[in-house]
Amino acid sequence: MAIDGPSGAGKSTVARLLAEQLGFAFLDTGAMYRAVTWHFLQEGCAPATCAGEPDRGAERMRRALATARLELSAGRVLLNGRDVTPHLRVREVESQVSMVSALPFVRTAMRDLQRAVAMQGPVVAEGRDMGSVVFPNARWKVYLDAAPSERARRRSRDFERQGRQVSTTDVLDEINVRDRLDSTRSDAPLRQAPDALYVDSTGLTTEAVVAVLLAYVRRGDAQRLRAAP
Ligand code: C5P
Repeated sequence: MAIDGPSGAGKSTVARLLAEQLGFAFLDTGAMYRAVTWHFLQEGCAPATCAGEPDRGAERMRRALATARLELSAGRVLLNGRDVTPHLRVREVESQVSMVSALPFVRTAMRDLQRAVAMQGPVVAEGRDMGSVVFPNARWKVYLDAAPSERARRRSRDFERQGRQVSTTDVLDEINVRDRLDSTRSDAPLRQAPDALYVDSTGLTTEAVVAVLLAYVRRGDAQRLRAAP
């Protein structure tokens, strides 16, 4: 199952619960891009650091990516064996991840890894290009959306849980910047796949959204059974 949508639409929470209920693996592809961004920051070659010398910066990022071994297991992200999960939502990562994820060589590497995970068994994969590019033949595709103000409120609550005080206005600005970059890049921009189910989660609880998606999965199965010879 492929779930796409903008920042703060609730994809991760919904996808995790849905994966549990369906007995599928859960693939958080945003966490992969965040881990790569963290790695570039550690290696001193993140886009903002290298803005003055883009060619050299890109070369250093390519080299850094070649030495990055990413593993996703039990909701944790390991980078060269080290658990980097606690670092994935820090400010520096948050502000640079969209620049990193726009780099075609990064996307190619992540895409290969995502497809390799899906080869191992059924997954609920969430991100920006799951249904449109990475898994165009996914059995179920969903585009999960919500009003910008609600997405900003949800992200502010996430920050509060992490002990960070960020105003909803700042969060809204950050979300808008990230969404603009994610939907205007040339390689795999954020798009609703034409055959995806559009779900607006504004005003809905997580449980209600999961119920809508479970009904969609079961409906699809029933239609397939009816269509079978
Ligand atoms: O979903 P999350 O907010 O963790 O994603 C972080 C960033 O990773 C996004 O803003 C986007 O730049 C990038 N991303 C992407 N393609 C995906 C998933 C995430 O470009 N499939």
